[in-house]
Amino acid sequence: MMLVHNVRLPESPEPVDVRIAEARFTQIGADLGVHDGEEVLDAQGRLMLPPFIESHIHLDSVLTAGQPEPNLSGTLFEGIQRWAQRKATLTVDDVKERVNRVVRQQAGFGVQFVRTHVDVTDPQLTALRALLELREELAEWMTIQIVAFPQEGICSFPDGRELMTKAADLGVDVLGAIPHFEFTREYAVESLNFVCNLAAERGLLVDVHCDEIDDEASRGLETLATRAYELGLGSRVTASHTTAMHSYNNAYFTRLLRLLQMSGINFVSNPVVNTHLQGRADTYPKRRGVTRVKELTEAGINVSFGQDDIQDPWNPLGTGNLRDVVFTGLYVTQMLGHEQIENSHRFVTSNAARTLGLGDEYGIEVGRPASFVLLDADTWSQALNWNAGVVASYRNGKLIARTEPVRREVLF
Ligand SMILES: [Zn+2]
Repeated sequence: MMLVHNVRLPESPEPVDVRIAEARFTQIGADLGVHDGEEVLDAQGRLMLPPFIESHIHLDSVLTAGQPEPNLSGTLFEGIQRWAQRKATLTVDDVKERVNRVVRQQAGFGVQFVRTHVDVTDPQLTALRALLELREELAEWMTIQIVAFPQEGICSFPDGRELMTKAADLGVDVLGAIPHFEFTREYAVESLNFVCNLAAERGLLVDVHCDEIDDEASRGLETLATRAYELGLGSRVTASHTTAMHSYNNAYFTRLLRLLQMSGINFVSNPVVNTHLQGRADTYPKRRGVTRVKELTEAGINVSFGQDDIQDPWNPLGTGNLRDVVFTGLYVTQMLGHEQIENSHRFVTSNAARTLGLGDEYGIEVGRPASFVLLDADTWSQALNWNAGVVASYRNGKLIARTEPVRREVLF
């Protein structure tokens, strides 16, 4: 039994106490009083949030930037070329060593759930085998969802369909696709049909790298949303990136929005990496290359934010700290109204939980697992602004990471 005393929850400005027993929240309210023999954690009025969720990352490629060569153009497509070179040298131990390091980094920033895309356009499926082992080995500290991600295409890569089916057999959680990389529009449509049907048949989720290009004619999204709607997959389907939507004309977007609402699919935007990768064929003006987060959110559609890449061919920087992603995302999408800032933790908490399908196993509510973070700030806007440390990260009632609060002294 533990009592977390004097915490602030985002929706209630007055401090409350939170009681935990047998790894679940059992009581939330003002001045609960200490029970006999109960451990007390004095939160000193700090903000408590459910754990952060990384809803889009490529763990297989982390910490490979510059190996064997750096991505000099900064484009998505050179990144895919550089990664193909590095992919040829992968071993299970190499992948596990890098991912083990990064997962601990993420845990230090309060992340407890990760959806990772893993490249399955590799006849050996080396990275996938490594991640499947890690999913089990790390389960006590980090929930890892694995997406079978066909980086070099399904219809455009030798045995692409067979590799996706094999990944499904090996036990991935989610199936991916990459329509904007397929040779033709027909292949793009075919790959989406293939993946949605396979997911429906196997009871798997879908998360597509969808239209990650500045080409306004890239329209995989309408096919994906239609399949999700017709097959009744709804929130089991996610469209990641959708950067082409940035360039769609408004008449087309308005028509598309109706279908997106009807389909019930989720969106993941990766504002840090896409501002780096997109707009590379533009001179000036240069497009930001980030999907219409504000308009989707206002239309009641679920959007979360992801880091996408950590020191790999698509991003030379990155730590796994989702604060940086939200902070940048709010600027790039022009969502800096007071309410928009205060609500923006949802991009990496509750909205991401919907995308991952976590249901009742997530959130600070009585009966749910006692997993939470305490931030060194009393509101989310302060935490965001000052990059507040996660002073404690608890998972199922157990402390799994902590950071000493920063104390600065100015000597004048
Ligand atoms: Zn990605």
